Amino acid sequence: MTHEDLLDRYAQLIVRSGVGVAPGQELLMTAPVDAIPLVRRIIEHAYKAGATLVTTLYGDDAATLARFKYAPDKSFDAASGWLFDGMANAFRAGAARLAIIGEDPALLSGQDPAKVTRANRARSRAYRPALELITSHAINWCVASAATPAWARSVFPDLSADAALDRLWRAIFACSRADKADPVQAWVEHSRNLRQRTDFLNARRYKALKYRGPGTDLVLGLVEGHIWKGGASTAKNGITCNPNIPSEEVFTMPHKDRVDGILSSTKPLSYQGTFIEGIKVHFEAGRIVESHADKGADIFATMIATDEGAARLGEVALVPHSSPISASGIVFNNTLFDENAASHIAVGQSYADTMANGGTMSAEERAAAGANSSLIHVDWMIGSSGLNVDGVLSDGKTESLMRKGEWAA
Ligand code: ZN
Ligand code: ZN
Repeated sequence: MTHEDLLDRYAQLIVRSGVGVAPGQELLMTAPVDAIPLVRRIIEHAYKAGATLVTTLYGDDAATLARFKYAPDKSFDAASGWLFDGMANAFRAGAARLAIIGEDPALLSGQDPAKVTRANRARSRAYRPALELITSHAINWCVASAATPAWARSVFPDLSADAALDRLWRAIFACSRADKADPVQAWVEHSRNLRQRTDFLNARRYKALKYRGPGTDLVLGLVEGHIWKGGASTAKNGITCNPNIPSEEVFTMPHKDRVDGILSSTKPLSYQGTFIEGIKVHFEAGRIVESHADKGADIFATMIATDEGAARLGEVALVPHSSPISASGIVFNNTLFDENAASHIAVGQSYADTMANGGTMSAEERAAAGANSSLIHVDWMIGSSGLNVDGVLSDGKTESLMRKGEWAA
């Protein structure tokens, strides 16, 4: 298959299996300018699927960098709230959301960390109403990726620019199953496998998970009525989507006050244009009370100080070490891929639909049940071939869930 063939199948997969655009629905897409060839094919397939209107907002790494270089200081407390309000309005009116990502993972690594943090905080605040409609799964949504020259260079620094871009595209197609004979059908089957796993975990009703591995010794409580999710899911608008392409994870809601022990990262975390590596955190009663990072420690410390919920967990996800993304041996420097290569946790905002009735409870009721809330949601990887995970049953008995990074149950 030529690159153009694969790109077209990938675009169709994103529209049909990813966001699941319904006839008569609007689609709101964000994408880097370098993704235009993919974006145009997505737009074509979205209209063929019956979309009434596709609106694309382009981002540009060079424009982002220009702001950090030349904008006045007060720029870094500003955000285009009017735009995010408009996005939230579009979602309330029924629009689906598609994010194509492919930014340079190290774009802001040379910039003042304080400015990066302020800009992120201002943006997170302004984006919150729109984000809440996504995390509560009010609408169908999807995050997928496009290979861009800067991203490719960071993943394959030893290859020529062309070879790196080609290699990254091939990895994206393979991890996304776009190179399968029938990609849409391949995702139906993949989703079915993930569903078997979530059905099993939901039936066990664990009250906690126990982690042991290099630099990790942790007990992580789960909220009562937690729901394991993975693969395709149906939004409150009745439309089924695959929120991440690729996706290999099953995930649920940790209890924000019941996490104790130490936890170490196993892959670099690319966070808002900088790298954070060698994270080691100490939890007490759900809160990170001590943190360390070999690289990016300042950014990490300010990130978890964003608000009260930023130092507590909002998501826990299990991914076998043999997942196709992990098997590719590539560190993508991008959370969408790297989080699906390894078991991970996320600090910050929880997904309301990973708790029974979470979507209909008030914010106070959710918090009382142990659901975390925050302006941020940041996943980082803790899985490896050395990780063991046990499920703790309600009577305190434990059973092995993962051994050496693979499913044991
Ligand atoms: Zn996750
Ligand atoms: Zn997450």
